[in-house]
Amino acid sequence: MKKLEDYVRSIPDFPEPGIIFRDVTSILQDADGLQLAIDSIQEKLKDVDVDVIAGTESRGFIFGVPVAYNLHKPFVPIRKKGKLPCETISQDYDLEYGSATIEMHKDSVKPGQKVVLIDDLVATGGTIEAAAKMVERLGGEVVKIVFLMELAGLKGRERLKEYNVESVICYE
Ligand code: AMP
Repeated sequence: MKKLEDYVRSIPDFPEPGIIFRDVTSILQDADGLQLAIDSIQEKLKDVDVDVIAGTESRGFIFGVPVAYNLHKPFVPIRKKGKLPCETISQDYDLEYGSATIEMHKDSVKPGQKVVLIDDLVATGGTIEAAAKMVERLGGEVVKIVFLMELAGLKGRERLKEYNVESVICYE
């Protein structure tokens, strides 16, 4: 039987020289790969008491929504700046060059709710750290963060050390 790793296509030097891009489209375009990815993320949540699943744009949506559906929990999209129509809060974070801003609706997480964050991949951890901070500013508690893939060399896990972090595939 194929492992999840077998479905990931790795593209050297994309989007720039030196980066090995871990492509999830090769997982998604295979029915077994897609099912295995969702099941593997969900497996990490089997003993977790959660009220809300949140995911970051855009690949966090692909994996977060099916898990939320299966667990019969709401899904909260955390989006790039300017996309959400109602009252939002925002969080800035640093990129390698420059910075970025993500937003969520103010009413999407209520004080005291237990939130799980899902994304496809953790590199530096900057994106998900910003998402976690924003959830906390709304009074939510980040009870777990699950990634399909982790690039361990970029030390995202250290940056996220105050959180319960798990990944399905870890690349050294
Ligand atoms: P970071 O905030 O540094 O943890 O970056 C995380 C986001 O960047 C993830 O949501 C990924 O979708 C994307 N990303 C960063 N590095 C890679 C990579 N080598 N392959 C695929 N996606 C990547």
